Amino acid sequence: MTEKIPRLPDEHLVRAREIVAEQRTKSKCKLCYDRGYIGTNQDNMLVPCSKCVNVDGVMEAWRTYVADTPALKALYGDYFEPEEEEEAAEEEEEEEVEDKRTKDIG
Ligand SMILES: [Zn+2]
Repeated sequence: MTEKIPRLPDEHLVRAREIVAEQRTKSKCKLCYDRGYIGTNQDNMLVPCSKCVNVDGVMEAWRTYVADTPALKALYGDYFEPEEEEEAAEEEEEEEVEDKRTKDIG
């Protein structure tokens, strides 16, 4: 077994649901019955519905929430942070490429 993730305290599920609701891309979804999430996993983390929710946006908002919440930061440390700083630099490059694509289409 590798390192285990601590179970998410129930009170933070409220904020997790809010984040998912904010990142929904469709208002009607049969897969999740318009909740935006499928359920919770074994770590008590919300599982966003990939069909009607911007999952990347959820992860981004969740990382910010964990970083801004001392109790969660103490629990998870940098678990939700990108693994290496080099990756952050790559992400910036990818965003630039995406911008160009959008311009081509438009
Ligand atoms: Zn859905």
